[in-house]
Amino acid sequence: MAAFPPPIENPEIKYTKLFINNEWVDSVSGKTFPTVNPCTEEKICDVQEGDKADVNKAVAAAKKAFRLGSEWRKMDASKRGRLLNKLADLIERDVQYLTSLETLDNGKPYLAAYFGDLDFTIKIYRHFAGWADKIQGKVIPIDGEYFCHTRHEPVGVCGAIIPWNFPLAMQAFKLGPALACGNTVVLKSSEKTPLSALYVASLIKEAGFPPGVVNVISGYGPTAGAAIAEHMDIDKVAFTGSTQVGKMIMQTAAKSNLKRVTLELGGKNPVIVFADADLDAAVETAHFAGFLNMGQVCLAGSRVYVQDSIYDEFVKKCVERAKRRTLGSPWQPTTEQGPQVDRIQFDKILGCIEEGKKSGAKLMCGGNRWGDKGYYIEPTVFADVDQNSSIAREEIFGPVQSIMKFKTIEEAIEKANDTKYGLGASVMTNDLDTAMRMSSGLKAGTVWINTHHILSPAAPFGGFQMSGQGRELGEYGIRHYTEVKTVTMKISEKNS
Ligand code: ADP
Repeated sequence: MAAFPPPIENPEIKYTKLFINNEWVDSVSGKTFPTVNPCTEEKICDVQEGDKADVNKAVAAAKKAFRLGSEWRKMDASKRGRLLNKLADLIERDVQYLTSLETLDNGKPYLAAYFGDLDFTIKIYRHFAGWADKIQGKVIPIDGEYFCHTRHEPVGVCGAIIPWNFPLAMQAFKLGPALACGNTVVLKSSEKTPLSALYVASLIKEAGFPPGVVNVISGYGPTAGAAIAEHMDIDKVAFTGSTQVGKMIMQTAAKSNLKRVTLELGGKNPVIVFADADLDAAVETAHFAGFLNMGQVCLAGSRVYVQDSIYDEFVKKCVERAKRRTLGSPWQPTTEQGPQVDRIQFDKILGCIEEGKKSGAKLMCGGNRWGDKGYYIEPTVFADVDQNSSIAREEIFGPVQSIMKFKTIEEAIEKANDTKYGLGASVMTNDLDTAMRMSSGLKAGTVWINTHHILSPAAPFGGFQMSGQGRELGEYGIRHYTEVKTVTMKISEKNS
C-alpha cells in the first residue's frame, strides 16, 4: 500500500460560522445546530445554522461579485485556472487534517477517505483548473454578410446543495466547473456533515478568490436549501441528493425564476454477473459495488443478478466475503467499514432490512446492529430476492446486498431495466458480445464492464430516468455552467 500520513484522531475544529463574502459570520437568527460523531453518537461541536436570511445575504454577496466590471468578471480565464490549482495545492497541503476532519464528522474509514475522497477531490479541482481558459465558442457561417459567433458565458449566481456521503468530492463537483466558467456560488452543505466544507471555504479565501465568489452556508434542507431553490437571484441550482427532494427543487425552480437545474439523484444500480465471468473477481467487484462507503453511495450496486448456473456458488462466496468484512474504528487502517452517518439513516436501513425479511428473501448473513455504540450495521446479504420487493426496488443507502437469479441475456436486461432509476450498472463477463449487448441495452448513465464505481473528473456522470437531469464532470459538466450567447455582426460594404 502506498504511504499515507497517520490520522489526527482529535482534529481541532477551526471553523463553525457561515462563510459569506470571505468573512466568518454568525447566523442572522443566532441559531446553531450540533454535528455528531457517528462512531460515538456524541456531539462534536455546534455550528451556525443558516436559513433564508443568511441565504439572502450570501446571494447578495455572490451577485455583487458577479457584477460586470467586478474583479472576478474582469479576471483572466487563465488566472481563474491558477486560483483553482492553488486551491488544489492547499487541499493537498492540509490533506491529513481534512481527511481526519471528514472521518470525524462522517464516520468513513480514514484510509478510504484519504485514497478515495481526498485524492478524487484534488483531481477534480485540477481538472477544472485546466478548463478555465479552454471554454470556447464557435464561428458560424450564417447566410449573408454577417460575422456570427457564440460566446460561452457564465450563468451567474449558482446555488449548490450537496449531500453528506462524499462531502468534499460533492463540493468539488459543484465548485470546480462553476468557478472554471466564471460563476459565483452559494453552497449549502449537508446538515449531517458541515465541517469539511467550511474548512475548504477557508482555503478558498487563502487561495485568493475575491469576496463573494464562494459562500458556504451550513443549515437544513427545508430552510436554507429551499431558500436557494426558490431564490429569484439565483440563476442555476445544482443538487445532489434524494429523488424526492430533487423533484421539489425542480418544482421550486419552475415556480420561482426558471433557474437552470441539474440533479444527481438516487439509484438502484444492478450488477449483472454472467456465468463466463471470472468468479472470484466478480464476487469481489460485487462486494465493493455494494459495500463501499457503508453502502452510502448513489452508485451502490445494490441489486445483484447472477446467471443460474453459477448462482449457488456465487451466493456462497458473497456471504463468505461479507462475513470477512472488517468493521471497527474508522481511524484504524485495517477497517473496511465504519458506522452509518447518523441515527436517521441507521434506523431507516434497519427498517429496510426488516421489510426484506418479511418479503420472503433469504437472509444469508448480517441484518443487525454491530456493537453497542455508534451507528454500525452488519454487512447484510439477502439471496432469492423477489424482483418486486422493496429491497430490490428502493434505494437503501446501507450495507445491504440483494441477490437474484437470471437465465438469459434478455432476461438480465429486462430485470436490470425494471426500475425507475438509471444511474449506474455493471456487467461481469469475459464475452465481448455480451459486454456490447449489455452496454447498449442497459438504461443507465454509466455502464461498467468487469468493474464498478470507477469515476474520473474527465468522464461525464449522471442519470437516466429518475436518477437525475444533466451530467456532471468533464466537458459535459462544463456545459451546464455556461449560457450560450449568439453574437451576429453585420459587415457593411464599403468601397476601399
Ligand atoms: P439524504 O436523505 O441523502 O440526506 P436529501 O435529499 O434529504 O438526501 O439531502 C441532500 C441535500 O438536500 C442536503 O444538503 C439537504 O439538506 C438538502 N435538502 C433536503 N431537503 C431539502 C429541501 N426541501 N429543499 C432544498 N434542499 C433540501
